[in-house]
Amino acid sequence: MSNADVIHARIHVALFPSSGMGHLTPFLRFAAALLRCHCQLTLITTDPVVSLAESQLISRFLSAFPQVTEKKITLLPLDPATINSADPFTLQWETIRRSAHLLSPLISSLSPPLSFIVTDISLQSSIIPITANLRLPNYILFISSARMFSLLAYFPSTKTDDGSFQFGNVIIIPGIPPIPRSSLPPVLLNSNSPFAKNFSEGSQTITKVNGVLINTFDGLEKQALDMLNTVKGLPPVFPVGPLLPCEFEGPESLATLKWLEDQKEGSVLFVCFGSRTATSKEQIREIGMGLLLSGCKFLWVVRIKIFDKEEEEGLDEILGYELMQRIKSSNNGLVVKEWVNQCEILSHKAVGGFLSHCGWNSVVEAALNGVPMLACPQRQFGDQRINLEVVEAAGWVLCVKSSGWGEDVLLKGEEIGEKIKELMASESVKLEAARIGQEARKAAGVGGSCEDSLKKLLQSWNKAH
Ligand code: UDP
Ligand code: UDP
Repeated sequence: MSNADVIHARIHVALFPSSGMGHLTPFLRFAAALLRCHCQLTLITTDPVVSLAESQLISRFLSAFPQVTEKKITLLPLDPATINSADPFTLQWETIRRSAHLLSPLISSLSPPLSFIVTDISLQSSIIPITANLRLPNYILFISSARMFSLLAYFPSTKTDDGSFQFGNVIIIPGIPPIPRSSLPPVLLNSNSPFAKNFSEGSQTITKVNGVLINTFDGLEKQALDMLNTVKGLPPVFPVGPLLPCEFEGPESLATLKWLEDQKEGSVLFVCFGSRTATSKEQIREIGMGLLLSGCKFLWVVRIKIFDKEEEEGLDEILGYELMQRIKSSNNGLVVKEWVNQCEILSHKAVGGFLSHCGWNSVVEAALNGVPMLACPQRQFGDQRINLEVVEAAGWVLCVKSSGWGEDVLLKGEEIGEKIKELMASESVKLEAARIGQEARKAAGVGGSCEDSLKKLLQSWNKAH
């Protein structure tokens, strides 16, 4: 152990992630980074969790790192009638928020006492009063882009006297390209939605946290990071990305890897819309037609349910027997409906493109592997179009429909097919993706910005004690 490692071993950090794989995964990757610095770690989990994928990932993490203490909060049941949302993850966030007072005795019982806690923005406004009362430093691990964080930080200035929020057609945030109103999800424009309320509360308490760690890096978001670190009153922002995938996340299935092994280098389009995007059967069939029309090889993860504990139909029923037969006889694609190890797939040499919804983890994982992206952000969800603007500015993406899809907007197979062909043939997008890949690996490598941010974070705590 170096001197620094011995000093860091005195630091005891609690991580309190929110619900959903897009939230949990970056927290556990960050946990692994803290463990590499020899910090002591407590992971605060909830009972119940929403999806099987989450409970399996937590178990694998705890088995891989037996030195981590798990502390479980048994959530108080929430009457769904008291919240205007049917989304199981939004309901879970609210349930955790309403159970946040249980944190206080839990934190006080930890030995040695905590140095600081790292929580998720979706829980933060409920946790701030508790940590303030305990005089415990509180950091946020922001799991979306620095551009999305800029919007959050700017949000309080849009508040009107009656408490609602007012946006023009374009949101001007000095220091970064303007955000068109059309990039905001409808749920944010409706002041009464749970998403808008939570976002607004988070934005109004952000000045009370000790620092914000963002899963991003200069090569991707230098402008936003520079801007955020000059705004008076905002806590310091640490770019800790790209957070690296870890072994505990598990291996990809042998069948998928074998299929990829048989494909030519850079020939396969990987299609996956994250962990919680339920795609309609009608849309799935259009995507299937688009994939066939493109004539390209593809590995396609289909998902029609928001989470995996719900019963699912077989592929023949989801895609329709006829489409499934056409895919089989084309011999061009593999379709799966199980959870895959996306990072392992993106790092496979056969993969040359990624059709993605632009969830931020997916963007960062594509960046890390230098994989060209074809984007189709969904209209109704949080940050997907804002994330797309980041990738567009960096030049390694083509877009199926930048205005978004989902609910009432159907992407047509012909358009998808044409864009896939264009992406897989584009040398310029490939070059830009390779450049971003290099930048990402530099940031994550020895002496890179990721390591630097972590050092600064741990040193700032040490200096204060
Ligand atoms: N993911 C995966 N396998 C799947 C679906 C998703 O490994 O079958 C991972 C993906 O690598 C990423 C996370 O789940 O780390 C999804 O996060 P993202 O922010 O991209 O989207 P969200 O699910 O939050 O919409
Ligand atoms: N196949 C394919 N794409 C798929 C699924 C299957 O090309 O998405 C091919 C693959 O070569 C596989 C064959 O179809 O070996 C058999 O299909 P399936 O996996 O449905 O199982 P089976 O008919 O053998 O029970």
